[in-house]
Amino acid sequence: MFLTYETFRTQADAVRTQIAAACRQAGRDPAEVQLLAVTKTHPPAAAEYAARYGLPAVGESRVQEGVEKRMQCTAKLRWELIGHLQSNKARLAAAHFDRVQSVDNVKLLALLDRAAAEHGRRLPILLQINSGRDPNKFGAEPADAPRLLESALAQAHLQVDGFMAIPPLADDPGVAQRTFVSLRELRDRLAQQFGVPLSELSMGMTGDLALAIAEGSTLVRVGTALYGARS
Ligand SMILES: *Cc1c(COP(=O)(O)O)cnc(C)c1O
Repeated sequence: MFLTYETFRTQADAVRTQIAAACRQAGRDPAEVQLLAVTKTHPPAAAEYAARYGLPAVGESRVQEGVEKRMQCTAKLRWELIGHLQSNKARLAAAHFDRVQSVDNVKLLALLDRAAAEHGRRLPILLQINSGRDPNKFGAEPADAPRLLESALAQAHLQVDGFMAIPPLADDPGVAQRTFVSLRELRDRLAQQFGVPLSELSMGMTGDLALAIAEGSTLVRVGTALYGARS
């Protein structure tokens, strides 16, 4: 059985407390760090809980699952795509998601731009960077980031909010930390070089959110700590 709202609320309170503590430690304002509830694999109730709790947005990994769940939800929420996006799903994603965090190649940029144009909208995106240099992960290589950003900024129907990264799986927390530092440094460098804010840094999940906040995260993507383990 899916968890009750009361259990969710208790767990969400604990996550908020953890975020606040990490912000205090880092000398940051908790208002700078948004909590994105990751509802993948969970029923539509997961998104309804997030809205009832007052969270503005949820994250989904798969286009089809996110689209179907959204249609079953009445709550007012923003839906963000955080999982790998294949070219053949770009049109669907541009039509149904409020932001795509997983844009990692030029072809995808062109497809999303064209789809957003057809819908008469400007689609917010993040560029996913493989800043942990994980051979098993998606995301653009850091060396390709300037070219990708340049191409993204040239698309009339896309709005580049910032960057996203997923660290490699590792027992050593230093690996995640280096991934976060490297994403922030890349962002700082390219924001200056291109004269754009790139203010969103989507980094940190259940296991490493405090570390990510210490390194400048503005958005933590949390599933397990809010909803329990995924089956
Ligand atoms: C599943 C997922 C998360 C949430 O991970 P938890 O460890 O359950 O908090 C965050 N980001 C991405 C990209 C994911 O796919």
